[in-house]
Amino acid sequence: MRKNIIAGNWKMNADAQAASTLIKNLNEADLAEKTEVIIAPSYTNLALANELLSGTSIRLSSQNMHQADKGAFTGEVSAEMLKSVGVSYVILGHSERRAIFNEDAQLLKTKVDQALENELKPIFCIGEELKGRQDGKHFDIVESQLSESLFHLSANAMRNIVIAYEPVWAIGTGETASPEQAQDMHVHIRQFIADKYSVEIADGISILYGGSVKPGNAKDIFAKADVDGGLIGGAALKAEDFTAIINSF
Ligand code: PEP
Repeated sequence: MRKNIIAGNWKMNADAQAASTLIKNLNEADLAEKTEVIIAPSYTNLALANELLSGTSIRLSSQNMHQADKGAFTGEVSAEMLKSVGVSYVILGHSERRAIFNEDAQLLKTKVDQALENELKPIFCIGEELKGRQDGKHFDIVESQLSESLFHLSANAMRNIVIAYEPVWAIGTGETASPEQAQDMHVHIRQFIADKYSVEIADGISILYGGSVKPGNAKDIFAKADVDGGLIGGAALKAEDFTAIINSF
């Protein structure tokens, strides 16, 4: 059975001091046990976070990863390095990586493979820009994103993927997809995976919604049958808000 997951993407926020305070506050919070909670601090705070989270059920994710094992890639971080500081998930294909850092489907495919080979679970982000939604192409866009970067995987490998549907027009904008829009897309994604793999595989994959989730709208979004949780940006930076979102299921 698929898990409910809430993952906090801290993006390029929080220095060591702020990260430490935020994690300590999360450790003291009363978090619903049935939900898998993941935080994704910046690279510089992963080792610190790993220490502070020791003995807790909160899992660590990185926000990105390089696709090579090691070598002359100045400024990059490998899967092995991430594993060595307790990371178990990696966010791949975030719309900011796609748009600002030109990460395309082919590159993301190699990153997915590298993550899985190193036993890191990809939180693979997909989603249309506003124009795609306005033109009615949103289903086609996510289908391409899924098939170009994930559908080369075996059924067994696919079981280790978490998908985050994040309509780009809802990220950091305060505008959220309605619970119905989220549900429609999640059903579509699940059906598309079922057609390629099987209903059993599709039913086991957690599909998260991301895009301006806040304590005030989380409950309605998570009430939808195919929304298995959220990838949270801004609201993950306040322990109180993140806790409220986690406890919205
Ligand atoms: C994100 O960056 O993945 C995100 C969903 O951000 P926000 O919650 O701030 O819209």
